[in-house]
Amino acid sequence: MRYALVLIDLPVGSLRAPFHYRVPEEMEGRVRFGVRVVVPLSRRSVPGFIVGFDDHAPTPDVLPITDVVSPDSLFDEEIWELAQWVAEHYLATPQEALRCAIPSDALAHLRRWVVRGAEPLDASMLSATERALLGALGPQGADEEDLVAAIGRGAVRRALARMQAAGWVHVRTQVRPPAISPRREVLLRLAVPPEAAWEAVDRYRLHAPQRARILRMLAEAGEAPRAAVLRGGGGALRALLREGLVEEVRVEAVRDPLRGTYRDTSVPAELTAEQREALDAVLDALDNSRHEVFLLHGVTGSGKTEVYLRAVGSAIQRGRRALVLVPEIALTPQTVARFAGRFGERVAVLHSRLSAGERYDTWWRIRRGDYDVVVGPRSAVFAPLADIGLVVVDEEHEGAYKQTNAPRYHARDVALERSRRRGVPVLLGSATPSVESLWRAQQGSWRWLRLRSRVAARPLPAIRITDMRREDGRSVFGRALIEAMRARIASGDQVLLYLNRRGYASALVCRECGHVPRCHGCGVALTYHLATRALRCHYCGRVLPAPSACPSCRGIHLRPFGPGTQRVEEEVRRLFPGVDVARADRDTMSRRGAHQRLMDDLRQRRVQVLVGTQMIAKGLDLPGVGLVGVVAADVALSLPDFRAGERALQQLVQVAGRAGRGESPGEVIIQTYQPKHPAVLAACGDDMAFFEEEIAARRALRYPPFSSLIQLIVSARALADARTAARSLADSLAAAEILGPSPAPLSRLRGWYRWQIVARGQDAQALRDAVRQGLAAWRRPPGVRIAIDVDPVEML
Ligand code: ADP
Ligand code: ZN
Repeated sequence: MRYALVLIDLPVGSLRAPFHYRVPEEMEGRVRFGVRVVVPLSRRSVPGFIVGFDDHAPTPDVLPITDVVSPDSLFDEEIWELAQWVAEHYLATPQEALRCAIPSDALAHLRRWVVRGAEPLDASMLSATERALLGALGPQGADEEDLVAAIGRGAVRRALARMQAAGWVHVRTQVRPPAISPRREVLLRLAVPPEAAWEAVDRYRLHAPQRARILRMLAEAGEAPRAAVLRGGGGALRALLREGLVEEVRVEAVRDPLRGTYRDTSVPAELTAEQREALDAVLDALDNSRHEVFLLHGVTGSGKTEVYLRAVGSAIQRGRRALVLVPEIALTPQTVARFAGRFGERVAVLHSRLSAGERYDTWWRIRRGDYDVVVGPRSAVFAPLADIGLVVVDEEHEGAYKQTNAPRYHARDVALERSRRRGVPVLLGSATPSVESLWRAQQGSWRWLRLRSRVAARPLPAIRITDMRREDGRSVFGRALIEAMRARIASGDQVLLYLNRRGYASALVCRECGHVPRCHGCGVALTYHLATRALRCHYCGRVLPAPSACPSCRGIHLRPFGPGTQRVEEEVRRLFPGVDVARADRDTMSRRGAHQRLMDDLRQRRVQVLVGTQMIAKGLDLPGVGLVGVVAADVALSLPDFRAGERALQQLVQVAGRAGRGESPGEVIIQTYQPKHPAVLAACGDDMAFFEEEIAARRALRYPPFSSLIQLIVSARALADARTAARSLADSLAAAEILGPSPAPLSRLRGWYRWQIVARGQDAQALRDAVRQGLAAWRRPPGVRIAIDVDPVEML
């Protein structure tokens, strides 16, 4: 007797472990690893996945599998093991993790099908709803969801319960086929040798020109889609089919994922010495099938992408495959174009413009082994690519790699785990690596590969700092930025003015000395709450009255910081009347097509000055931008997050990169009240000094990489409920070191009040265990939600 281990696919936290089910003989051939099945569970039929087999059953009364949804295996052991790791590491369920690895369209769903049973003796026994329900049942019955859509969920549920009990209707669980299946296409082809076809073309030319045209087309092209041929006349085609000159073939239509993708086929002749050295290190690991982590650290334009391309090419030459992760496909068009250009048909690009059908096709083709390279965003880390020999993670520091709902995985860290399990090298690249990654590289647990010089001749933009403490404060712009804007506007260059968005209260900054009040225990900037005139630490919850004078210089101009985009726009109009200004923030960009319109206006120079938030920092590639002004670096520097400095540096480098992408060298001006802040200095070039200082602070305050963090956000519709629930959760987490509970910086989001708890531990595994036990012991009040974020990246 053979038993299958079935992971029930329901969103119920208590069904984490697979159950044994008997494999009926008639299903032997179809019940394979990774197949979706229907099994009985507490007298219901529920979907599940086969995740293993056993010769023995734990109990004698094991039930049989009811049905095999489709004989296609959706995942292999490698993906299942990775999903289990993700579930364990991120305190999620294996179901949640597995669903990241399977496109939802590939999952056939179950439906509840309602059919008529015995006729009620008397129609007056039926309520109005029940009569409506019976009326809606066709002779074959109806899908319960369709009834719900027509009548309402509660009403249908109550009516069905009573009618089932009376025997008037029966409800059966059935398999509904996948929403999308591979598209079939009918091609036409010559059924005779080409010479015979050409003879027929001559014969038909006069009296049957349509037939001649179709034959000529097929003789020239070999084959053509029927739909295209039909446009020329169905009668002629039918005649040709009848005469046996043409035949139909059914094929699986390929929805080409690279369709419309721009390809860059340039290949530099020779690598620089630094590139060569980096590539050789990776190839050595590749040749010896050795898991090793490489951190490729080099400024933009230093040739990192070329190293990825060569390493991937070498992996393919050795008969292996490669997985390439990029933060966001839409924002990295050049990178994608170069992969598409270098590897052509062999590369699948999982971009967001794919239709559901294209995504589904591509996923299956990857699973079948049609591609050697997969390029995609964070979810691609679960791509069903077999024989991976190399994993590449571009821009490893990017926050976009973190998933924002459960399981809240970090694609870089999952990539590290996947390559570790496979025993293959992983190549992480960045111009501004995360502090944690740099630490591992510096400690020697990872291999640090530096590209110190730029390949292309284009110089980095010149960066200047304006010390806002020395300005008179009448304008949001300092004198240097006003002068630079005046010069650029006169010469016809475009100007980008960058501001950091905030969705919550901001910190105070002293306009005289640049001091920002911080929490003594947590090191993070305190946020200022105008209503209560209080300063609050969002980590530990400490609340202090706002000082009237600066604790550092006794100055009296201690104010919340950060002008809004609107204020900046008005200021530009006031200083430069008549200049074309546009604003890009969440208000102006929410309308459909607004982004595209703005891009067109910028490209055609209908906009000369653009004021924008983070939204425009990435991916903007405009040759006309000669000047970038960072209006207030202080906002980023004083976010209530221990990574504020690191994040500010990454943003500064990113926006600075928007300048001088054309012929003329660009210019960047950073305005700040903290001109000596290490992150600001690092943006001008000295990034290792920043790193040393940051590492010292993290060590002193015990933040990663010197500890692990788990953030728990408790939310409720009423403030008191959120607070009470957070406090009771904090009590039951007593086994871990706890910061908080306190209101989250985004204290209210879409009508939910949010409280946060940060659990911290020296040992990641012990911390996870403590939090898991605390959660299990906690009784979650009704109406309260909880979100668990292991290794949080953005703590808002
Ligand atoms: P990064 O990924 O670090 O920004 P790229 O790999 O994109 O750098 O290289 C920047 C530019 O230099 C690209 O146009 C690339 O084609 C070119 N390039 C890269 N390596 C070389 C090389 N060895 N010789 C000449 N040009 C190169
Ligand atoms: Zn604190």
